[in-house]
Amino acid sequence: MDAELRELYQQVILDHNKSPRNFRKLENANHTAEGYNPLCGDKINLYLIIEDDVVKDVGFQGSGCAISKASASLMSSIVKGMKKQEAEKLFEKFHDLVTGKLTNEEEIEELGKLAVFAGVRDFPARVKCASLAWHTLISALQDGKKVVSTEE
Ligand code: ZN
Repeated sequence: MDAELRELYQQVILDHNKSPRNFRKLENANHTAEGYNPLCGDKINLYLIIEDDVVKDVGFQGSGCAISKASASLMSSIVKGMKKQEAEKLFEKFHDLVTGKLTNEEEIEELGKLAVFAGVRDFPARVKCASLAWHTLISALQDGKKVVSTEE
């Protein structure tokens, strides 16, 4: 990871840890899921309000490491307002990014702030921290009311 991206990565992680976005339970959520990463101890409860296939609102609660929290916070602010299919596509791209499959510079740039998570691809244990919120999102989008684990 080059110095610029590393600095940006640290900024994003710090910022979202200090003031996580959408860090609240949505009492009227119609899709929910719970995610767990036993390797690190990260836990997330995700709440979505979906209307006409659009993610109208997102909230999450949980505890875990800085990376898992920052990733959940960033994910929640990015998918708000997205169509279900768009969010699913973004998950695939994000997953390719953190596992090192996405290498096209242009496509990485299109990911905006999410691109900073490219830094975790060299650390397999961290990939799970970064992708937990996204796995939980997919579960919630599909049906929800399930517990997902990164170890399945
Ligand atoms: Zn973690």
